[in-house]
Order: sequence, then C-alpha cells, then structure tokens
Amino acid sequence: MNIINNEHIYSLLERSAKPDSMQIDEIVAEARLGKGLSLEQVAALINVTSPTDLEAIYETASYLKNSIYGKRVVLFAPLYVSNYCTNNCLYCGFRIGNHDIQRVALTTEQIQQEVIEILNQGHKRILMLMGEHPKKSSLSHFIDAIETAYATRNSKGSNIRRINVEIEPLTNEEFQTIKDVPIGTYTVFQETYHKPTYEKVHLAGKKMDYNWRLEVMHRALANGLHDVGIGALFGLYDYRYEVLGLLSHAISLENEFGVGPHTISIPRLQYAQNAPYSEGTKYMVSDADFKKLVAVLRLAVPYTGMILSTRESATMRMDLLNIGISQISSGSRTNPGGYKQAFTEQADGSQFSMNDGRSSGEVIGSLIDSGFIPSFCTSCYRVGRVGAKFMQIAKPGDIKTFCQPNALLTLKEYVDDYCNEDLQHKYNAMLQNELEALPAQEQKIATKLFDRIKAGERDLYL
Ligand code: SAM
Ligand code: SF4
Repeated sequence: MNIINNEHIYSLLERSAKPDSMQIDEIVAEARLGKGLSLEQVAALINVTSPTDLEAIYETASYLKNSIYGKRVVLFAPLYVSNYCTNNCLYCGFRIGNHDIQRVALTTEQIQQEVIEILNQGHKRILMLMGEHPKKSSLSHFIDAIETAYATRNSKGSNIRRINVEIEPLTNEEFQTIKDVPIGTYTVFQETYHKPTYEKVHLAGKKMDYNWRLEVMHRALANGLHDVGIGALFGLYDYRYEVLGLLSHAISLENEFGVGPHTISIPRLQYAQNAPYSEGTKYMVSDADFKKLVAVLRLAVPYTGMILSTRESATMRMDLLNIGISQISSGSRTNPGGYKQAFTEQADGSQFSMNDGRSSGEVIGSLIDSGFIPSFCTSCYRVGRVGAKFMQIAKPGDIKTFCQPNALLTLKEYVDDYCNEDLQHKYNAMLQNELEALPAQEQKIATKLFDRIKAGERDLYL
C-alpha cells in the first residue's frame, strides 16, 4: 500500500521552499471555495513565512470554519481505562520502560465512578483510551468498559451518548468484533509519518511496525467501520512533513473508500515522566508554526473535524478555535482513575502533562463569553449520519443546519441540569437570542424541542 510517498513529500517541500505571494493568493482564493487543496498547494502554504500571506491564510481559515461549523464547539472528555503498556514509545509516560508509574487497569466499579464524575461535568461524549497490553489492556476488557460506560447514569439520570475510541491498530478479526459495538469514531495517531523517525522512537512491542499502524484505517473502513480519526504527534519530526503526511493519508482513504477521515487530531508533544523524547526535540513546534499548521489543515480538508486537547493552554485553544478547531476536550484527566482522585497538578499515573487545567464549567463559560456555543451534541452517529452519508451533508455546507440547533438543545440541557441560578440566567438569555437567530424552519423545530427540554424531557435532537 503506497500511502506515504517519502520522496514526493520531500520534493514538494523543497520545490515550494520559498513560495511567492501571487501563488499563495491563488491557492488561498481556491481554498475559499471549500473544495480542499492538493498536496502541492498545501506544500506551498505550509512554507509561508510572510506576515501578509499568513494573514490571508488565517482569514480564509476563519471564514471556512464559520461557514461550515458556525459557532458551535463540540466538547468531550477522555477516559483512560488502563495504562498498562508493552510498547516503548520514547515520548510517552505509559511506556514499558517507565518503571516509576503506578499501573492501573480500572475495574467495572471504577469505570462507573469515572463516568459519573465525567457526567457530573455535563459531558455526554467520551473518548475512551488505553495502553497496549495483551492482558491488562485487552480488547475484551475495553469492550466491557464501553458497555459499562454506556450503562452508567448519574443522580440526574444523565448518560454517555457517544464513545469514541483511541486504541492500538486492530486486526481484521478484531474489527469484525468491534463493528457490532456502538462506538463513534475509531482513532489512531500515526505519531510520525516519517518512517526513520518512527523507527527511532518506537523501541519495543507491536507498535514498532510502521506499516501495520499506517494501514489501520484502510483495514477499519474495509471491515465496515464508518468514521475514523487520524493524527500526528507534532514535535517528533518536521511539522511540514507531518502535515503532508496527514493529507496523503486522508487522500489515500478518500481515493479508496470515497470518504476521508472524520477527524484529524493535532497533539503537540508535552512533558511526560521518564520519557526522553518528551523533554524536547529539535522539531518542537513553536506556537506560531502550530497556529499556521492548524489554519493550513482547515484549508486543505475543510469538512474534516479538527480536535484539540487540554495539552494546549487556554489561550492557544481559544485562538485556534477561530481558525479551524471544531472539537475540544475539557476538565480532562490523563490517568486511569484520575477523575475520582483529588485534584492535583500532576496526578500520578498520567500519560503526559496538560496545559489547560480549567474545569469544564470554566471552559464553557469562557467559550460563551467569546461568542461560541458549547455543544454536547452526539446526534449524527445516533441517526446514522456517518461516513460517506455525513460527508454528503457536510460538503454542500448543510451540516450547520443540524449542528447549530443541536448545540442549543444540548446546551439547554446542560444549563438546566448543571448550572447555578446566576449562570442559568445568563446562559438562558444567550440561548434565547441564538434560537431566534436560527433560519425560520430550523427555528420552528428547535423551539418546540427546546420547550420540551424546559419542561423536563431530555435527549432531543434533529
Ligand atoms: N496506546 C494507544 C496508542 O498509542 O495509539 C492509545 C492512545 S495513547 C494512550 C494516546 C496518544 O497520546 C498517543 O497516540 C500519542 O500521540 C499521545 N501521546 C503520548 N505521549 C505524549 C506526550 N508526551 N505528549 C503529547 N501526546 C502524547
Ligand atoms: Fe503505550 Fe500508546 Fe503510550 Fe505508546 S503511546 S507507550 S502505545 S500508551
């Protein structure tokens, strides 16, 4: 399978090392049409350094973000169920070579407790993760954890409505097993698309096999999964190469299955205990370059959701929401059992350290103050708007007609169930204004559902 063409990526980057402004203007104008860009065009954009050209890229990224996604920002919480791992990824605190970490595989009861803590923050969507270990991080343990999480309710009767997963690359047989489990997006980060670097940082375990990981999304889609998520760990190799790697991966999936990745994640390397590569590499990505790569990806794949975690600071996250990010985590813990533990700066057993330690309530408040609509919507995958069907709605720009009303409806639930009176007052006024700003037909449907939520019904969506 030829997903990454190393020589081609190098030659594109070299050829467009000094892009001229006229060429950039043309590419940006084409990107504005929302049809995506070629590898060659992206190679030129990612090499841009001129402030004027950068401004044009940001302006167009912001335009696309608004016209496709509107003001809604989808929220989720990660749930780590086991940190046992037999791999030796030199950047990760869970690696087998870290003997100081406290290893934990959550029991059913502990998973229920974690889910209740997450639900009490108002979340309805989880990203469930674990390390790779044949016994202590096994697929059957993971499937049990998914079932437990869906079945758990907190004292208000809230439950988790969508579980996305991020686990090791599965085999065809394992995909056949997980296909019948109600998961949302199946995500695996390639970490780095640059094979020599990949081999340098993965020193033991199944993860040493670059191709096995690279081909996992082709296996997933061939086995009937609908939504897949890809990502690169920025800081391991040249960020420009990784952006072209992500795009090559997306193009290959699109060519073969008619649908690209549902989401792209852009984790940036953070400090982790006993993880030498996390202490800094010569490829660490500056804030300015990170901002540029987010905007360039938004231009390159306008309909692909882009996810940013609490690895990034509050300021960086707010900045990137304006130019491309569509989903963020909040109130996160990256150690199994972390939600139930007392709040500490760096909880024991964490995978890496975080830079946005705000509670979900604080994140929601600052999103609203900045004009965004925090959304707990999970409707698409529950009504079957997945895979190619989702893209058929998203590409003509119609997904907003679902996203915006569903954001208001799920935020209304949050306000009524999880906010104090002062905040209820403030947020209800905002919700009313936004409801009135919807186009007539959506407004009519959403207002009826809104009134039913006010009267105590839950889980209503378009
Ligand atoms: N063990 C599975 C795997 O490796 O694919 C599941 C996901 S792992 C728990 C989640 C992701 O965290 C990894 O794919 C990696 O990109 C990211 N990660 C690991 N160490 C990190 C660090 N020091 N800073 C930022 N992200 C890190
Ligand atoms: Fe294990 Fe994943 Fe961490 Fe690698 S990144 S050590 S596979 S948990």
